[in-house]
Amino acid sequence: MDENKNSQSQNPQKKHQIIKPSFYVDDERRVICESHSQIERIRTLSSLADLPAFQESREIEKILTCKACNHYHNDVCYFPKEEIDRIEKDRLAYTFNCKLCGGSIDRPLTVMYSIYNKEKFNVQIPLICCTCFSNLDDDSFIANSRKRILMLSLSFAFSIFMVIYYGRIAILSNIWGILLFGITLAFWIYLAIRDVRKIIFLFRGRKYYKKTYGIAKKRDKGKYVDEFPFD
Ligand SMILES: [Zn+2]
Ligand SMILES: [Zn+2]
Repeated sequence: MDENKNSQSQNPQKKHQIIKPSFYVDDERRVICESHSQIERIRTLSSLADLPAFQESREIEKILTCKACNHYHNDVCYFPKEEIDRIEKDRLAYTFNCKLCGGSIDRPLTVMYSIYNKEKFNVQIPLICCTCFSNLDDDSFIANSRKRILMLSLSFAFSIFMVIYYGRIAILSNIWGILLFGITLAFWIYLAIRDVRKIIFLFRGRKYYKKTYGIAKKRDKGKYVDEFPFD
């Protein structure tokens, strides 16, 4: 009975201490949590002009994760410790993909920001990787993705050629040959599938880009009156 009493008196106290995350995106397109226990250090690092940019960003990247936050360690964050662990595990297993290129999301807080907005405000913020973010900034996503699709298509064609080449050898050889060339064959099939997946992701990303960012661009140019049927 003593145990029961203890947990009862602990719970309301714990609820009181829950720390809500508060996110913003800085000039470098990094998601920052203002409730992070090391926020002062993050602010200092990002304001240091004389520190080489590379060193600065590496230092910040190291802290810009819930795992470097006291609220995670004391389990007082809006996100329970187990949930953060689970999300991190999923992120490292490449569960979260960039909406534009399908690549993995490297920054933990980018994922937390997206999940928080969805849970709390029912707002879906697209996950976008650092490379695509910089492509958005200098307006080079369409050109770069076209180049990448071309390279991937060449790589895919080569993989298919190798699949046919080794496939023929495997079929024509004895049992040992089938085993030996079968492994090589599997490798090239794997590469071909990987290329196709990336190409599909990029095509979807381009479609999404044109749908969402294309409108904003047309607006910039002042053509929006023609683009909106309800105007
Ligand atoms: Zn947190
Ligand atoms: Zn991307």
